[in-house]
Amino acid sequence: MKPDHIALVIAMNSEAAPLIKTLALEKKADLFPAPLPFELYQGEAAGKRISVIVSGLDREHGVNNVGTQSATLMTYLIIAHLHPDLVINAGTAGGIGEKGCQIGDIYLSESPFCYHDRRIPLPRFDQYGIGSYPSIDTTEMAASLGFKTGRISTGDSLDMTDRDLEMIRSNRAIIKEMEAAAVAWVCRMMDIPMFAVKVITDLIDRQTSTEAQFTANLQLAVNNLRRSILQVIDYL
Ligand code: SAH
Repeated sequence: MKPDHIALVIAMNSEAAPLIKTLALEKKADLFPAPLPFELYQGEAAGKRISVIVSGLDREHGVNNVGTQSATLMTYLIIAHLHPDLVINAGTAGGIGEKGCQIGDIYLSESPFCYHDRRIPLPRFDQYGIGSYPSIDTTEMAASLGFKTGRISTGDSLDMTDRDLEMIRSNRAIIKEMEAAAVAWVCRMMDIPMFAVKVITDLIDRQTSTEAQFTANLQLAVNNLRRSILQVIDYL
């Protein structure tokens, strides 16, 4: 595909800031209704129009609006208002070490995106809860850019219960994060191609807590994320 306009959906300012700076993207203030916290940045790169939406801060707690509810709304808004040809969800993620994930690795998504924390034990609702939403085929792009590929499982918690891990494994996912399936769900509904770029900040099958690993590795990860997004934009 040769997209003219790429929209990036990014949960955290720390994940988006290096990219916004490198591409000298401009902040656009008035696209969304005033009370919405989401931040929009626009510019050009490699001859393409680039729009980046970042979740902004929760008005009560002052932290980024991470997770599926704002990912859903951001994706809808950017598609409905700006009509991009392609949506990329970019961010940090946990990985399963025993499946070969290493801190700092760059992964492109493999179909399908699923959830690991939406348990609805009723006929058909069980599969609806888990979900199954397509990614574009990233195999060639990953091979050409030297990135890995893997299935991504989404949930609304940074930590993990034993049941979450069971679900991640039964989804045959190796990557755990908090937005991708929500972005993919909206894109499937709106018929817009999408994929995800995720950099590993923490290994979910290690003794050290996710929070401690996440904090220690965030800087390395966001540097890798910036570099990988620039490579992806050039490739496309
Ligand atoms: N401590 C951070 C907040 C992190 S919330 C701060 O100071 O801003 C976690 C974010 O990182 C989410 O957007 C999620 O998609 C991603 N993430 C990274 N590792 C994860 C993991 N192991 N499980 C779930 N989400 C993870």
